[in-house]
Amino acid sequence: MNNKEIIDLDSKYIMQTYGRQPIALTHGNGANIWDADGNEYLDFFAGIAVNVLGQSHPKVIEAIQKQAEKLIHVSNVYYTEEQVKLAKKLAEITIFDRIFFANSGAEANEGAIKLARKFTGKGEIIATNNSFHGRTLVTVTATGQDKYKEPFKPLPSGFIHVPFGDSKAIANAITDDTAAVLIEAIQGEGGIVVPPKMYLKEVEAICREKGVLFILDEVQTGFGRTGEMFAYELFGIKPDIMTIAKALGNGYPIGGLLARGEVVEGFDYGDHGSTFGGNPLGCAVALTVIETIKDENLLENSKNLGNYLKNEFINLNEKYDFITDVRGFGLFLAIELDRDSSEITNKMRERGFLINSTAGNVLRFAPPLIITKEEIDKMILALDQVFSEI
Ligand code: PMP
Repeated sequence: MNNKEIIDLDSKYIMQTYGRQPIALTHGNGANIWDADGNEYLDFFAGIAVNVLGQSHPKVIEAIQKQAEKLIHVSNVYYTEEQVKLAKKLAEITIFDRIFFANSGAEANEGAIKLARKFTGKGEIIATNNSFHGRTLVTVTATGQDKYKEPFKPLPSGFIHVPFGDSKAIANAITDDTAAVLIEAIQGEGGIVVPPKMYLKEVEAICREKGVLFILDEVQTGFGRTGEMFAYELFGIKPDIMTIAKALGNGYPIGGLLARGEVVEGFDYGDHGSTFGGNPLGCAVALTVIETIKDENLLENSKNLGNYLKNEFINLNEKYDFITDVRGFGLFLAIELDRDSSEITNKMRERGFLINSTAGNVLRFAPPLIITKEEIDKMILALDQVFSEI
């Protein structure tokens, strides 16, 4: 099928919830992706910060093949070696002691909210304006953007929103019934919004002082995206609970919520569960993803090439008045414009580069961590040309 045939079937048979780009992806290799008309693209979005290892990584293929030959049985009635190995690996590379495996970011956040309420015996969750935590009823309620939740009222109760970046607002919002504060380290969907330097440290201190749990949503920032394995390292904080998904499976659906200290005892038998959560295929892939990030020095790549790319953006900022900001860490970068950003995304796609437009006026860049300097140079050249045309 070509692009048009696929898009026509989509418009007939799929609920039209996505504002998709008008191409159908067929296959890929590294940071290269092809569409159903045979057009080639360089991927600077990686499926929303998902494909850290790019497409067709030999280690990922091998992990999937080997595990598929062995066992794809759904695991939670029984134990599997793959699940405990991944849990152990995550404990080793983080400050957390235990994990509950979910299948997506929203599910990870749902579980984190349940755990916080169960552990504290309290109800309120404080989240921030402009945040994004998922599309299930609870996580869309936690999300700080009205457009996602207005049509779905009545929403679950117990969620309060305060401005992002203002730790005093959090201190003021905490009551005797506050269970947790839920925050993205850097707001991804909101436009790669980086908080003031000390914000997360201050939030952490306030949570400690008031006996409130600190849940960090690292669904988008986790696994090397910001140049550190996790953004909590970047900001020097120790949240009580962290949620992960996206890059963990490099495209295979897997997520989780990690907790440390006494909080891990919050869930009792029967409190939470998932048929597919922590299935052996997902766990085998995730283990490989984590090992490969280390083996291929991809944190270094994220840091170094991230700095390189950001500098190129800063140069563009000096050249074009309509750029209002350049921000981000590692390979998680944004160019903010004084106008709609979707036209630029379209023009870049027509030239063979996949980038993303978010928050209306922000260009979001989150390439696979295996991206090369040469690929970045190609993209910058095209972006400069597109900018010069508007
Ligand atoms: N949290 C954050 C920070 C996200 O960016 C997303 C997805 N964009 C989610 C949660 C939800 O993840 P999922 O789509 O896997 O449910």
